[in-house]
Amino acid sequence: MTQQQNNSQDNGGSPSDEAGSIQYFAAQEKVYAKAVSGRFRTYKWAAMIICLAIYYFSPFLRWTRPGDTPDQAILIDLPSRRAYFFMIEIWPQEVYYITGILIFAAITLFFVTSLLGRVWCGYFCFQTVWTDLYMWVERLIQGDRNARMKLDKASWSFEWMWKKIATHICWLLIGLFTAGAFVFYFNDAPTLIRDIFDLNVSSTVLAFVFGLTMSTYIMAGFAREQVCTYMCPYARFQSAMFDKETLIIGYDETRGEPRGKKRGADSRDHLGDCVDCSLCVQVCPMGIDIRNGLQIQCIACGLCVDACDNVMEKVGSPKGLVRYDTEENLELRAQGHDPELHLIRPRTIYYTLLLSAIGLLMLGSLLMRPVLDVHAIHDRAPLFTLLSDGGIRNGYEIKILNKTHDEKSFALSVEGVEGARLAVQAADGSTIDNLKVAPDSVGHFRIFLTVNKKEAAKINGSADISFRAVDNATQNSDDVESVFITKTVQ
Ligand code: SF4
Ligand code: SF4
Repeated sequence: MTQQQNNSQDNGGSPSDEAGSIQYFAAQEKVYAKAVSGRFRTYKWAAMIICLAIYYFSPFLRWTRPGDTPDQAILIDLPSRRAYFFMIEIWPQEVYYITGILIFAAITLFFVTSLLGRVWCGYFCFQTVWTDLYMWVERLIQGDRNARMKLDKASWSFEWMWKKIATHICWLLIGLFTAGAFVFYFNDAPTLIRDIFDLNVSSTVLAFVFGLTMSTYIMAGFAREQVCTYMCPYARFQSAMFDKETLIIGYDETRGEPRGKKRGADSRDHLGDCVDCSLCVQVCPMGIDIRNGLQIQCIACGLCVDACDNVMEKVGSPKGLVRYDTEENLELRAQGHDPELHLIRPRTIYYTLLLSAIGLLMLGSLLMRPVLDVHAIHDRAPLFTLLSDGGIRNGYEIKILNKTHDEKSFALSVEGVEGARLAVQAADGSTIDNLKVAPDSVGHFRIFLTVNKKEAAKINGSADISFRAVDNATQNSDDVESVFITKTVQ
């Protein structure tokens, strides 16, 4: 029997007795989480409001940029192949910055997990945040745990209909706003809003909005804790980041057991502090009983801590029967020793060093980011042309990336072959000296490099060459390696 099935009675579901046979499939037992108030619930509300505000309003932040560049602070401009994040502009050639950010974020997550356990899962993960929001709506319309359980068991009625329909309409609307906000990160938000009102939206945008609306609706409305338990890989490998001094949600067994309802003064002598009210289970969004020990489903949201603290306050016992603590401290307390807190441990030191190294590397590369980048592509066919006077000519495509917001003019030169004549061909076939590149764009130029018969004879098949583009205004330059070919190697 699964843990979830064990707890299903506390959560309103009906346990199925599968004794004697191995079950490879367990049907989802609906979790009816009860509302709770307390310190960690307040932190969760705060985290939810901050995360949602950042998500929904970020696309509307403006950031003035010169020229025709978009003034949206955070934008992934797919048609122009640019990503903007405030003052940072990332070109497709600089996708390694994104890789760096992802690696940095992953190691930050490992670091935080090793210190504070699954605090990300409990407070900031988008699945948790949206599920919490959906549960809040559900509670607002259908009532708290008992009322929802009663409603689900009731037969169809006007009350049943309007409560269910209103809940699903609200869920779909939240999904729609969530999907809408997502597409704003890929389009200029105010323009897209105008287009939506003018019914002038592309089918791609509509498809994304539909897909994301439905996935939010399904994940936060129905799949909920199943996503954390079965779909999220992080739940599976996060134990590798845990040690005995990682913060977890723990039940103080030595203090709480033997559990039981305290009905008279006598019972206080032989019972522990746990009054077996099951409130810690009823408020759990994952439907687990933390008194059975740390389980993979626990997202460390702290709601059971609030529930138990409220009970302890009522029965006049000290708070903290269920609390954030480390495994080490739970053991120390059980042995009658004082708890200890060790933030600096080999694991946290490694993560700090790694984070510092990656952070400094990324900061350095961002500060020293070149605003000029040159690429050369040698013609594939023909590799070279034998001219009537015996000279050899090679063709290239030169790409100059002007990452500034000003038009630039470049002078191109070549090194590596004696007496090479360089000609830049304009679109109309004429030759040009200065290579002009528009602001924030890539200039493409057709280049011919010619060597006379005498110099070509000195080259043994091919020679390494280097093109240099120099910004005429700033003398800023960039080099690119290529090759000059005089004969085909057999
Ligand atoms: S056991 Fe407690 S901390 Fe863990 S998920 Fe349930 S309510 Fe949250
Ligand atoms: S809320 Fe506290 S007292 Fe009630 S069952 Fe849970 S651990 Fe025991």
